[in-house]
Amino acid sequence: MTISRDDSIGIVGAGLSGLLLANQLIARGYEVTLFGEKDNRNQILGSWRNAATPSPQKHYVLGNWYSWEFKFNNQKFLQKGAKYHYEVIDGKAMKSDIENSLQRVSNCTRILENIASIKRHDRGQEVSFESGRQSVPVDFLVDTRPPIRATSCCVQQFIGLYVNIAPSDIGLDKPLIMDYGSCGTEKDNSAFIYALPLSNGRVLIEATTFDVKVRNDSFFLRNIESWWSLRTEQNLKDKIECKESGILPMGKIKPRFNPENSFGSAGGATRPATGYTLVGIERQLQTTDLWTISGGIPKFEFSKLSQFMDSKFLRVLRNEPSSMREIFHEMARGMTGDEFARFLSDRFNLRIAAKVIYKMPKRLFLRNLFR
Ligand SMILES: Cc1cc2nc3c(=O)[nH]c(=O)nc-3n(C[C@H](O)[C@H](O)[C@H](O)COP(=O)(O)OP(=O)(O)OC[C@H]3O[C@@H](n4cnc5c(N)ncnc54)[C@H](O)[C@@H]3O)c2cc1C
Repeated sequence: MTISRDDSIGIVGAGLSGLLLANQLIARGYEVTLFGEKDNRNQILGSWRNAATPSPQKHYVLGNWYSWEFKFNNQKFLQKGAKYHYEVIDGKAMKSDIENSLQRVSNCTRILENIASIKRHDRGQEVSFESGRQSVPVDFLVDTRPPIRATSCCVQQFIGLYVNIAPSDIGLDKPLIMDYGSCGTEKDNSAFIYALPLSNGRVLIEATTFDVKVRNDSFFLRNIESWWSLRTEQNLKDKIECKESGILPMGKIKPRFNPENSFGSAGGATRPATGYTLVGIERQLQTTDLWTISGGIPKFEFSKLSQFMDSKFLRVLRNEPSSMREIFHEMARGMTGDEFARFLSDRFNLRIAAKVIYKMPKRLFLRNLFR
């Protein structure tokens, strides 16, 4: 039985996916209750696109570029997109505006409390609260709480600083997707810098690792400082506006409730090999017409080709995290901008997959094939 306008839909989690979903369902006339504290985290969200940006994301675009750069030690690589461009949006502003718009509509109930548990009941599910507030029954529940990751699961970890400086002062005229090897004194050189010119007077500088281990914030901040000091003598600390951070699962995850009720990152929207999630959430949003009261949300998966390539990549990452630099170096050197964008956004074909495999350091992959 499909979900009707008379059924009550509960959404747990007011993060990116919960808010985008609530926004869409409310606009279509469904009765929605959104549970959970406001998500005020800074979040600049990048993705590769070859088509118009969907709404509401299109109102929050900070920039888009048809070329982007990589740097490995002192070697620079420029990729140009013919059809694809790289776009970033201001996720925090979008989340805040959706929150405000939910207050103005009659078919949304907003409960600003975190939930304690979800139980099934005769007709649907029942949500109880950490505060002891009376539980709320709903006909159909969507859970977007962050999933549980296994201790062996690799992670993408990052800290990004929003810095008030003209991009030209640090030689940044386009997105720097990865700068491996400019992080100076660190013995552990698994970190790379991702940097974006956000406006004439503002940049994002982010230190990131792909690894099994989780590091202290100080590791990422030292890497940013050392990258900065190679580009300017200006004082970084004076120019920091705010920061963003995250630990994204790269690999198998387990939702906190039923898989059939899970959405967003919990519903598999995070691409295991990259941590990119926005594209996955946008695809999930296109399937809401297929949801049914009895069958729940159909399982979301990236393409079979992505699953195959990601499983090989993650095997290498788990066994030899320090090899990431070599892998990305080959991808930056050997792929066109469109091929790279299509590969990362799960819009690639066998020819591109074969090209990636051909470019990969062979000894590395053979070594890890049977481990
Ligand atoms: C800083 C940052 C930058 C990122 N950059 C990119 C990017 O450039 N491109 C990209 O594609 N992806 C990016 N990502 C990854 C991805 O887009 C995010 O992980 C995205 O936030 C996933 O959305 P979500 O709603 O599924 O999960 P979340 O954003 O984790 O939202 C889950 C929500 O559930 C809430 N919650 C938790 N427990 C409870 C509870 N008990 N009761 C009620 N609510 C609860 C949380 O407070 C949170 O608001 C980034 C992530 C972060 C954090």
